Amino acid sequence: GDLTKLEWNKAPCRFCGTGCGVNVAVKNGRVVATHGDVHAEVNRGINCIKGYFLSKILYGSDRLTTPLLRKKNGQYAKDGEFTQVSWDEAFDVMAAQFKRVLKEKGPDGIGMFGSGQWTIWEGYAAAKLMKAGFRSNHIDPNARHCMASAAAGFMRTFGMDEPMGVYDDMEAADAFVLWGSNMAEMHPILWTRVTDRRLSNPHVQVAVLSTFEHRSFELADIPIVFKPQTDLVILNYIANHIIRSGNVNRDFVSRHATFKRGNDDIGYGLRPEHPLQVRAKNANDPGGGTPIDFEKFAEFVAPYTLDKAVEMTGVERGWLQRLADLYADPKIKVMSFWTMGFNQHTRGVWANNMVYNIHLLTGKISTPGNSPFSLTGQPSACGTAREVGTFSHRLPADMVVNNPEHRQHTEEIWKVPPGTINGKPGLDAVAQNRALRDGKLNAYWVQVNNNMQAAANLYEETWPGYRNPRNFIVVSDAYPTVTAQAADLILPAAMWVEKEGAYGNAERRTQFWHQLVKAPGEARSDLWQLMEFSKRFTTDEVWAPDFLAANPSFKGKTLFDVLYRNGQVDRYPVTDIAKGFANDESAAFGFYVQKGLFEEYATFGRGHGHDLAPFDTYHQVRGLRWPVVDGKETLWRYREGSDPFVPKGAGFRFYGNKDGRAVIWALPYEPPPESPDQDFDMWLVTGRVLEHWHSGSMTMRVPELFRAVPAAVVFMNPDDARARGLKRGDAVRVVSRRGEMRSRVETRGRNRMPQGVIFVPWFDAGQLINKVTLDATDPISKQTDYKKCAVKVVAV
Ligand code: SF4
Repeated sequence: GDLTKLEWNKAPCRFCGTGCGVNVAVKNGRVVATHGDVHAEVNRGINCIKGYFLSKILYGSDRLTTPLLRKKNGQYAKDGEFTQVSWDEAFDVMAAQFKRVLKEKGPDGIGMFGSGQWTIWEGYAAAKLMKAGFRSNHIDPNARHCMASAAAGFMRTFGMDEPMGVYDDMEAADAFVLWGSNMAEMHPILWTRVTDRRLSNPHVQVAVLSTFEHRSFELADIPIVFKPQTDLVILNYIANHIIRSGNVNRDFVSRHATFKRGNDDIGYGLRPEHPLQVRAKNANDPGGGTPIDFEKFAEFVAPYTLDKAVEMTGVERGWLQRLADLYADPKIKVMSFWTMGFNQHTRGVWANNMVYNIHLLTGKISTPGNSPFSLTGQPSACGTAREVGTFSHRLPADMVVNNPEHRQHTEEIWKVPPGTINGKPGLDAVAQNRALRDGKLNAYWVQVNNNMQAAANLYEETWPGYRNPRNFIVVSDAYPTVTAQAADLILPAAMWVEKEGAYGNAERRTQFWHQLVKAPGEARSDLWQLMEFSKRFTTDEVWAPDFLAANPSFKGKTLFDVLYRNGQVDRYPVTDIAKGFANDESAAFGFYVQKGLFEEYATFGRGHGHDLAPFDTYHQVRGLRWPVVDGKETLWRYREGSDPFVPKGAGFRFYGNKDGRAVIWALPYEPPPESPDQDFDMWLVTGRVLEHWHSGSMTMRVPELFRAVPAAVVFMNPDDARARGLKRGDAVRVVSRRGEMRSRVETRGRNRMPQGVIFVPWFDAGQLINKVTLDATDPISKQTDYKKCAVKVVAV
């Protein structure tokens, strides 16, 4: 073709939390190519296979282009057929249903499930609509399935969310430890940086820990396959080893850490009547803990000896010793990585706390190469789900709804009456599904996620709620996902460069992009949908009469006026939009919507260590890592000379906590809720594959990626297969106490399974493995453990 007619612009990749930069080529209003951005620090010109095919995710043949409402005899009906309707009709019916529920139940009947794939302003606009508009805290992002334990772990140890380090640590570390993270497939571009460091520097060592051998093991100097759940034992053994070998960094610990003993009661976050639930004295550990001293901590971890660790984990002594020495040796700079192996864990918060313990005991933190690093799954798990505060218990900038000062501060910035925000945390993801099933949550809006494929124990806990006749379910998506098909109303969504956007990646890097093309047909961005829908409600219809009477100046205003056309969001004119770029939302509402929302949001963090740069700056650069102070980004937080919030002479300061100290937590091993037994004799682990992103709703529509991995298979040890009379390629049923799925046996390929453990990826909508999984959650973070439940595998 005629290359001169291509227009190239920058954008972050649409998929994972790595945050690679790409260049996007547009021709005749269509994205025709992408390539890795050589100016992007994160990926330096390369992409993984998903990134290379980015341009094709927009053009699947079944893109949704009009609203679709279930109708019978010309009317909305729960058991009706999906019928094309106009946006007006869609919003009329939706608003009527929301108003019905508001009348019957008040704000408690209304909920929303969002995403770490929302752009920053979409998440912010959604949080405002729910928490201040409808005055309901029942909004949660799918990041609850993904990052909730990491966020709670940060808050409990440091009093502040997100990593202290950056990707630059990879070029400075002497050792990398992967704790339940298959970076080779899930964060492939970061893995190329680790691989480069390892192969160019012979002294560098890589340890990989998992419950089975995956592709990252190919680079492992220290390969460790442990029995499921015993990572907690290994973590305490390492802490014990550091103490016994005299390698505690006493100066660092005495100046910058405190010790606490955690609550060791148990509770698995299942329904109270569930047979696997254990009654806990205090299932909701508030995270407070009891202060202890170093000696008490040393006593606490003393039983976690090498012998004990070998016995419980099934790992050879030599490997455990070598791993512990990496951390204990003061000369070795260590970077620890983790993702879902830690976070999707009934004690995910503890696992996060315990890896920080090790780095804090040795003082290996906040300096180049010494970095406990929580990797994120979604492109804006950090930027949107966490920083904006779309969790049911959170507000922007790490604030929480159950803190009266935080609520007051938020209400002031939002310019809404005092007392608008409910002080009770709303329902989390799993609790929302249960409330829908039980008919307690009745009007529900789902955006940018595919929970009917992603939620655990689908058929018992999720599907019934969507089809409960009392409930009205709305799903906004670009494609007819399983979730969309379970809805009553489907709203067609614009995606990626069809709108102006912003993401925050795993290293605190905020990245912007412009709208480069039009969305097809009637598809509109989630932001437009949220704001346009808000026009359908006046405060008189939504707010309680006594609350409204106490705030008469708000009477008769639409939620759109209160939340978005409020003198601060709408003060940025459309003429601010960079020349030559479309902006459909701004055209629709008459002001620069994204800039208004971002600048209002940014006021939450400025001056508090969450500082963001001015809006326009981000369109010029390839992202900046917050806090950005005086135009300068921050690489290592909490360290003097690197973080502007650490005073001179302090050395380090963990300023998220009032005393400036990080907390080292004494936390025990705890068994999982369900383990293999006679009836269900194998462990099931679920996860992703390199070629598909999450539920596959985008990548399964890219022919090259579909052909590469067209279906989910059951990775299994060949001896386990033989013992069941099975061989590679045989059709099998994977059965648990909750449900079953069918697939084929794979005994070779990218994963080598130990006996007794199978791995099944969850990207395949045709074979829903989450019918089988258990909905047990971490009692603190409410995040589901997708890595452990008991199943049997039988021939079809
Ligand atoms: Fe980079 Fe992740 Fe996109 Fe791959 S999927 S190109 S690693 S951001």
